Amino acid sequence: MGHVSDEARALHAEHPAIDLHADSLMWTRWLGYDLLKRHNPPFPKAAFGGHVDVPRMREGGMGAQFFGLVSLPFLSKRARGLARAVDEQIDAMEETIARRPSEIALCKTAADVIAAEKRGAVAALLGIEGAHALEGDLGKLTGFAHRGVRYLGLLHFSSNETGFPAYGRGRQDDQGLTAFGHSVVEKCEELGVLVDLAHVNKRGYMDACALAKKPPIVSHTGVLGAFEHWRNIDDEQLRAIADKGGCVGVIFCPRYLGGDGLEPVVRHMKHIISVVGEDAVALGSDWDGFIVPTNALPDPSHLPELTTAMLDAKIAPSAVGKALRGNVMRVLGS
Ligand SMILES: [Zn+2]
Repeated sequence: MGHVSDEARALHAEHPAIDLHADSLMWTRWLGYDLLKRHNPPFPKAAFGGHVDVPRMREGGMGAQFFGLVSLPFLSKRARGLARAVDEQIDAMEETIARRPSEIALCKTAADVIAAEKRGAVAALLGIEGAHALEGDLGKLTGFAHRGVRYLGLLHFSSNETGFPAYGRGRQDDQGLTAFGHSVVEKCEELGVLVDLAHVNKRGYMDACALAKKPPIVSHTGVLGAFEHWRNIDDEQLRAIADKGGCVGVIFCPRYLGGDGLEPVVRHMKHIISVVGEDAVALGSDWDGFIVPTNALPDPSHLPELTTAMLDAKIAPSAVGKALRGNVMRVLGS
């Protein structure tokens, strides 16, 4: 365990951290990964998964985790069963909660998160990664919202009915959101589902921000101003999110950060703060998402080390509190 300052511990006590993206339920659905047990990552360098669980969330001063709901359209030619894959991950979450409702609670709102924490449970929130899971049907979005889904990522690694990915199958950089994509953004806002612009190409991203009446988010990303990579978003994209009151979760993946350790994570956070101020920065680990996480943050128990590094880098404690929690709570309350 690296260095953790008393001030960092105190900040976590006051602002239990919220992370915007981890794909743990994919592992639960496929391999029966138990979120209630404490795990050691099974692979060298903590690669791929085995990152998030309730005991290590508690050790790391976390209040809430958004769990991504993943479906893989390239596994089936006719893209059937995508919605079902999402439903099965929600089932897995519900089964986990049913086994130990005192430990973990399904939450949708900021008030739900606070209520869960007050009774000593960690908060679980749900977000879909890729609107292909709707199978072209807005009604499916309503169904998912009723099951507790709080954000919808429009794209993943392939084009779908809403638009085109920043990278992957069907990429088309000169195309923005489709007409269906516009309807999906509008329906999300009507249902209180946040629009997540991670993985969306720039045209589609800017279209969605122009259309948005509520704050959009980018659940897990790096920023181009800190490291040049196709996966990262530029300053114009940062401003577009901040203008609508949204926030951007910094990913913990060295490939996109441009280096290992805590310093690159802090560098991306500082870039966001320098471009749009302290109200748009958040955490977006991508734990359990088939990534090799930065060696300093192999699982949530290490988060207070990042907090210490933010403070050491002269980010004001008030801004660190917003990055850990406050900004996401504000967006959840919108
Ligand atoms: Zn992703």
